[in-house]
Order: sequence, then structure tokens, then C-alpha cells
Amino acid sequence: MKTLTSIAGMRAACRGLRAQSGSRLGFVPTMGALHDGHLSLVRKAREQCDHVAVSIFVNPRQFGPNEDLDAYPHTPERDADMLRDSGVDLLFLPAAAEMYHPDFSTTLTVEGLSGRLCGASRPGHFSGVTTVVAKLLNIVQPDQAFFGQKDAAQAAIIRKMAADLSFPVEITLGAIVREPDGLAMSSRNAYLNPEQREQARVLSRCLQEVDLLVAAGVADSARLIDAARQTLALEPGVQVEYVAIVDPDTLLPVDDVSRRTLVAVAARVGTTRLIDNVLVKG
Ligand code: AMP
Repeated sequence: MKTLTSIAGMRAACRGLRAQSGSRLGFVPTMGALHDGHLSLVRKAREQCDHVAVSIFVNPRQFGPNEDLDAYPHTPERDADMLRDSGVDLLFLPAAAEMYHPDFSTTLTVEGLSGRLCGASRPGHFSGVTTVVAKLLNIVQPDQAFFGQKDAAQAAIIRKMAADLSFPVEITLGAIVREPDGLAMSSRNAYLNPEQREQARVLSRCLQEVDLLVAAGVADSARLIDAARQTLALEPGVQVEYVAIVDPDTLLPVDDVSRRTLVAVAARVGTTRLIDNVLVKG
């Protein structure tokens, strides 16, 4: 595995891999502190592409002023070992100054979608995400880029951006990877103390219950949201930000679950903000 820190170096290395005849380059962008959720995307990329590039960049532009940018977990040596062991060809590890020169002034926003779900409480977050993902896609120029369903709103927004702007890349989503007790894997789980870690299970539990209710024929979104909120209320340490039942592409609320629908939850456990979701009627 080759590690590159400059845009010019990464571009050249990617160009070299793409130049091999018939070769397909896959790309997995991450913020590091890697876990099996990230590695599942790397494995998918390895299966579907000839070469795999991964970026680790904690993008300051997607963090709000009072968010956890400075505290975000940072495990670069461990990450590099994991990626090497997973057969990654190129690791892009740029510094913030390499990605954003002092007079950088472009922001890319997917109108509408960027203000929905997490975008409502994290103003500017999704614009930060789309701006950095567009830049990374322009640097790597992969044939295929891999994102996790864990960040369902992000996935919808990136798909829309790539379609609207005719990015020559296939966007592929990977299923949510969970801990044995159901908690969705997240780099932010490292912030949880043992008691909070136990409380955090309620997020996946309430989604499982909604899934079962839908399977049993309950279609009314208001009733399903109510059931999820009742379950979440069993853990007083968990502060719910939203429970939403939306179209997975537009992220707009749907009144009843009659086709493929996204059920998404965001909550704080202590000061840690966690998200999770399930696709019902898939
Ligand atoms: P992050 O490092 O949190 O920005 O995540 C990088 C990529 O990994 C994003 O596309 C995420 O959606 C994806 N990802 C994060 N956690 C998981 C998970 N538990 N299962 C599947 N994909 C994930």
C-alpha cells in the first residue's frame, strides 16, 4: 500500500492505476478511526474493482463550531495497518491545508436535501460533505465510489450530487455493519462510557421494532414514529433529536409506509450524537 499526502501525488498514483488496461478503480472516502463498517466498504470495493483507494480526512468543513472536530478520534497507524491488511492499494492522507488553501471559497450544496434530517440541526454539514466528496472524486477519479447506508441522508445527497453534476462515477452503497448487540458501528462509539454504551442500544432496538410493526402490517408513519419514541423514552439518558420516516431519495416525510422507506433516528447519548436507520419494505 502506498500512502500519499499531496493532491498531485495522489492524482498521479491514481492515474497510474487507472492506466492499466481494463482496470477499475474503487474509492472509499473516510474520516479514519476505522472499524468493520469502513472495512466492509473496502471489501466490497475489492470484490467489484481491480484497485482500491481509501482516503482518511477529517473534514473541518462538515463540523459546526460547537461540534467534535478537535476531539474526533485519530488512530492513523492502526488505520493504515488495517487498510494494508485489507489489500488497499492507495491511502490518501492529506492535511487540511493541502485540501483547503487559504483562499478556498467554493461550497457545493444540494438544495433541499441538504437541509433535511441531520441537515436541519447541523446547518452547513452536508454542504461540507458534498464539497469535500466532490473534491476527493476529482482527485481520485474512481470508476466506483463506496458509501455506507449508515449515513443514509449523506448517501442520498451524494447520489443526487453525482447525478446532477454528471460525475463519471458509479455510487455504490454498503449495508450497515453492527456490533453483536445491534448498535451500528461508528467511530463516535468510542466516546461512550460503559453505561452510555448500554443505553445506546435503544437506537437499533427502536428501529427493529418499527421494522417488525411494518412487517405486521402497520403502515401509518405517525403511529410508527410514536412507537419508536416510546421505546427511546425507556432510556432517559438518551435525548432524541429526530425520528423520521422519509423517502430514501428525497428525504421528504411520507405519511404511510407502502413502498421502500427510510426510518431514521438521531439522538444524543450524553454528549455523543448517534444516528441509525433501517430501510423498510425494501
Ligand atoms: P466516516 O469515516 O464516519 O465518515 O464514514 C466513512 C464511510 O463509512 C461512510 O460512507 C459511512 O457511511 C461508512 N460507514 C460508517 N459506519 C458504517 C457502518 N457501521 N456500516 C457501514 N458503513 C459505515
